[in-house]
Amino acid sequence: MFGIVVALFAVAAHAADAPRLLRIGVLAYRGSEDAERTFETTVAQLARALPHYRVEMIAGSAAFLTTQIARDEIDFVVTNPGHYLELAIDYSATAIATVQDMDGTSASEAVGATILAPTNLGEIQSIADLKGRRIAAVAPEAFGFRAAWLEFLDRGVDPFKDARPLFVGFPVDGVVDAVRAGRADAGIVRSCLLEKLIAEGKVKPEEFRVVGRRPSGTLNCQVSTRLYPGWPFVKVAQTSPAMARQVADALLAMQPSSGDIVWSAPESYHRVQDLYRALKVGPYAPFTRLGILDFLWEYRWWGIAASMAALWWLVHVTRVAHLLRRRTAELQAAHEKARLEAERMEHTVRLSLMGEMASSLAHEINQPLAAILSYARGCERRLDAGIDPDGVREGVRRIALQAERAGSMVKRMRDFVRKTPSRQLPIDPAVIVADALALFEPTAAARGVTVEADLTGPLPIVRADRLQIEEVLLNLLQNALEAAAGRPDPEIVLSARVVDHAVLIAVTDNGPGVPPEARDSLFDAFFTTKPEGLGLGLSLSRTIAEAHGGRLDPDFDTPGATTFRFRLPLIEEEDHV
Ligand code: ADP
Repeated sequence: MFGIVVALFAVAAHAADAPRLLRIGVLAYRGSEDAERTFETTVAQLARALPHYRVEMIAGSAAFLTTQIARDEIDFVVTNPGHYLELAIDYSATAIATVQDMDGTSASEAVGATILAPTNLGEIQSIADLKGRRIAAVAPEAFGFRAAWLEFLDRGVDPFKDARPLFVGFPVDGVVDAVRAGRADAGIVRSCLLEKLIAEGKVKPEEFRVVGRRPSGTLNCQVSTRLYPGWPFVKVAQTSPAMARQVADALLAMQPSSGDIVWSAPESYHRVQDLYRALKVGPYAPFTRLGILDFLWEYRWWGIAASMAALWWLVHVTRVAHLLRRRTAELQAAHEKARLEAERMEHTVRLSLMGEMASSLAHEINQPLAAILSYARGCERRLDAGIDPDGVREGVRRIALQAERAGSMVKRMRDFVRKTPSRQLPIDPAVIVADALALFEPTAAARGVTVEADLTGPLPIVRADRLQIEEVLLNLLQNALEAAAGRPDPEIVLSARVVDHAVLIAVTDNGPGVPPEARDSLFDAFFTTKPEGLGLGLSLSRTIAEAHGGRLDPDFDTPGATTFRFRLPLIEEEDHV
């Protein structure tokens, strides 16, 4: 317990004794040594004036200094006006003093840029002559380059589009080296650097010409741009006001010897602000993106990709719609073709059925014709004898009856083989059954097969295609006939009754039945066991039954009898309304 208290005291005592840190960041545009040399007097004087602080100088690039500020590692910064503007906006930095040369230069017009071209490149006289030329500079964000950029724009030269910038990085001496080595036709440097290099003997006075020279006011250097205030001494947001006041006091109280820098009250930096706004850089860059054109340009690849996708989608949708239309037309054509094919097949089967019944039907028609003949002769005889007019009248009436009988048979046959489009209409199924039986009975009689019609009571109306149903019945009857004929007591029973909301028509024969191996194939098209058979009757009949919403099923369960049941649904209640 005691140990901990002592340790706390020790820490407290140490904190009270140790001088507080006062960290000053310095922009090193010519390397950290030059920066330290330039500001060493200032730092030394500050250290003397503020002995309770341990003053540290940290030199580095603008990006490095900004990072240090963000990490709270720096209390003050000495930097160029452009960097200061960014810090003012991003880190609430404030200038507490502005640098001033002892040689009488105005603090408000102390910094600019100089554009150098080799003296031997005679054709470069003005900024306009720099079009298409390679121009060296430190970096696109260097203050000197930006000061020159505005002058370029004023003379209609966009340094990025009309010229070819070559950024060599810090230190700024690299720009002079690039021009000297011929890697660039001109170079942009901070104002007064040329004079400094000449004074240091690093550059010969006749080596470079200053391009686009402007009046330099109180500044004793050649410049190509307008002038901006000197470098500010900046406090950042987190610096305590007390420390800031002490440092400002000390800066303004400094009495430097000749050639040194001196600090005056902070200048207004609005011209720097105007410069950055005109160039849309630094803190003004994000706002320009709000412009619709800039926004479109910024996201042009996304825009192009989205447009391509939309175009692809449009093409795809159009193509699908086209394919769908074509496919629908194809399907309709195929459907129509299938319908015509089915009709053709039905007709073929009807003709075939009629062929099978033809001789007996001819015989059937022959009977009334024979009767007509015999009645006509009887009448003739009576007329010759000049007697019995009543007998003649009766004879003529019978002739008419027989002619009607023959006529209706011919009409039935003609109707049955007529080619008509399929049409389902409400109809009494008893009428269809009667017509089928009338057509079928002569054939059955000719083959010695008894046909029994078991029709109990009236039948309700169904919706059906008369000819198709008749065809089904005749198919079933003809099959039954072919099965039963030649057997002892051959017989066919046709019954029709109402069962479970349907008319159920059954055709039963006492033929030999269907062998088990044939049962699964009965309804397959072209399956036949008959030498002259088409093998289409049952398959077509089932198709017709299903097209009417009904069914056609065989029944092999009753020994000695084969039955085919044809189920036709009754018309639903709403159909009547
Ligand atoms: P087709 O009569 O031209 O042969 P179907 O499709 O009408 O064609 O009949 C197919 C086959 O079914 C017939 O060949 C026959 O073997 C069998 N079949 C149909 N009905 C009967 C029946 N009532 N009794 C026995 N077999 C039958």
